[in-house]
Amino acid sequence: MASSDLPPVVRTVQEVRRHLEPLRAEGERIGFVPTMGALHQGHLSLVEACARECDATVVSIFVNPTQFGPHEDYDKYPRSLEKDLEALAPWGVDLVFAPAVEEMYPPGFQTQVLVSGVTELWEGRSRPGHFAGVTTVVAKLFHIVQPHVAYFGHKDYQQSVVVRQMVRDLNLPVEIRVCPTVREEDGLALSSRNAYLSPEQRQQALVLSRSLRLAEQMIQQGQRRTETILAEMKKLYDQQPDVRLDYLAVVEPDSLLPVEEVAGPVVVLTAAWVGQTRLIDNLRVEP
Ligand code: AMP
Repeated sequence: MASSDLPPVVRTVQEVRRHLEPLRAEGERIGFVPTMGALHQGHLSLVEACARECDATVVSIFVNPTQFGPHEDYDKYPRSLEKDLEALAPWGVDLVFAPAVEEMYPPGFQTQVLVSGVTELWEGRSRPGHFAGVTTVVAKLFHIVQPHVAYFGHKDYQQSVVVRQMVRDLNLPVEIRVCPTVREEDGLALSSRNAYLSPEQRQQALVLSRSLRLAEQMIQQGQRRTETILAEMKKLYDQQPDVRLDYLAVVEPDSLLPVEEVAGPVVVLTAAWVGQTRLIDNLRVEP
């Protein structure tokens, strides 16, 4: 399947439908990887899983304006379509959908898909409106591509929970697969936003993954009280004066509600500002 030809790129919903109709008619299992581009190994690990598990692989590249807040980084978010296509070339991607904003949100657009509950915590609290943008665009993309399976990263753990909730609640005929977070050797989770960091900030950004590893160690050594775990994590942040902590939490994996005692699997969540760059990370830990 490996090929070095650039994958075909289409810009419109109609072209997606035209490309995929024959594949669907032949009964091919269509896999879908939604992204905002500036592709790195984290994205490519999803593409790899998709190519391995499905007959056809569709990747979308769309920096979705509705999931950015008014003072967030929509304008400066990295865009690199040519490089992205080259990165996708070895994976035998069948189709790249890279729509313009007007294709996704034509004049007069007035519908939103809103998930309550799991969107109201953590990222939802720090980024009002973010998940409404995510669920609306993901629902649209699912309807456009109509994949059998869609691939998301554990890196954006709450997003994966929110998408699963939407799929369940709306009976969308798509299976959601969540793939492990890809990290640099020193632990930093890959993110398109890491490109904003100076070398010094990049070093400071290690506090996110280090605090998660500390929580994991503590739990594996028998600590069960999350108050104690969070206090120790916080101490690591306090040693980084240029990092501004947004939140730290130990949560139940499905509800995302904080737990007081670790009695089963948990996800440790963190978000922090390193200079002007907001980063998130998380780790699933089984006691
Ligand atoms: P984005 O382009 O940031 O919207 O991300 C597109 C998809 O790639 C999402 O499902 C992310 O969770 C996933 N992703 C981003 N970074 C990573 C990573 N370091 N490891 C695994 N998946 C990732």
